[in-house]
Amino acid sequence: MTDKEYKIAVFAGDGVGPEIINEAIKVLKVVTDKKNISISLQDGLIGGSAYDVFGTPFPEQSLNLALESDAVLLGAVGGPKWEGLDYSVRPERALLGLREKLGLYANLRPVVVFDELIDASPLKKNLVQGINIMILRELTGDVYFGTPRGVTRDKDGLRTGVNTMIYKEEEIRRIALRAFELARARKKNLLSVDKANVLESTELWRSVVTETGRDYPDVELKHMYVDNCAMQLIRNPSQFDVIVTTNLFGDILSDEAAMLTGSIGMLPSASLGETKALYEPIHGSAPDIAGKNIANPLATILSVAMMLRYSLSLPQEASLIEKAVADVLKEGWRTQDIFSAGSRLAGTEEMGNAVVRQLVSCDF
Ligand code: NAD
Repeated sequence: MTDKEYKIAVFAGDGVGPEIINEAIKVLKVVTDKKNISISLQDGLIGGSAYDVFGTPFPEQSLNLALESDAVLLGAVGGPKWEGLDYSVRPERALLGLREKLGLYANLRPVVVFDELIDASPLKKNLVQGINIMILRELTGDVYFGTPRGVTRDKDGLRTGVNTMIYKEEEIRRIALRAFELARARKKNLLSVDKANVLESTELWRSVVTETGRDYPDVELKHMYVDNCAMQLIRNPSQFDVIVTTNLFGDILSDEAAMLTGSIGMLPSASLGETKALYEPIHGSAPDIAGKNIANPLATILSVAMMLRYSLSLPQEASLIEKAVADVLKEGWRTQDIFSAGSRLAGTEEMGNAVVRQLVSCDF
């Protein structure tokens, strides 16, 4: 029992968001009740559901709620209802707002292939068995934010598109520090991915990561060019443990790595800043299956596990949730997206209940 009360902002969002968040909260409450941890859950509106009420996807109330919280748990935002809106008020803008205002610069995506779901992977079983990779993507720099940017027209009417790939030393150092700490808590192997042979901004990336590594002599640091990494992720993914990379390369590599597992409904994420953090599944609002009690809640439940590990300093309890998920899969429970012949079909709620049952019977 700790005296601290953790404040958690809960943004269910749109589409399947409310359904998957319900199940994740049930799981969180089992853990906090069992451990006598005091939490206060505050619901807020974000995305399309916020736009419908406030005319903006990221109202000030929600920003303040996030700023006052120790962590934010988010379902997903977006959907066809809001697709015709101006970009400035599209539901997805809320995610950029959250990242920016909370200073979330480190995006963690674990890519874990559960033995029971190995057949869902498009790769051969022997390639993906036992895969457990942590991808750390820098989230606030690079070509997405660098200036100058835009499309200009010359005097002959011909257009030029420009974006600027830019990294400051201090931006690289803070993500490198996170990466070495993560690697130290795992197998002490870190791979930094860049394109230092042709891009100066990533030449700097490589040298700052190398300098940072001098304070982590226990962690083995290697470097790889991004094109090779993209290939190796398919050729021999089990060689990887922790991968740290830039915003652009991380965007692409993390989606590629996610496909190794074959199931978008299983993958959680965390976005960390110096003091704030956001936890969410990597999938979107899945409007095609919303309201039908068929969405897979496990990515969101696994995001709660990440929240326990990184924001509430409860690594053992996080592992218990992860084990409960693995045990539920071993029992044969599957939502529609991961269903295969011979397994037991579960709805969103039944899947959440199955994880809760496992946890209730666990020794904490
Ligand atoms: P999506 O991830 O919502 O759905 C892609 C496919 O995966 C769909 O067939 C969907 O049914 C399925 N799927 C997704 N999550 C699932 C789950 N938990 N269980 C079972 N199946 C699941 O991506 P999309 O269709 O490209 O986007 C839909 C909306 O979500 C768009 O408005 C998009 O902008 C938004 N989006 C939001 C986020 C976010 O909130 N972080 C991320 C991506 C997309």
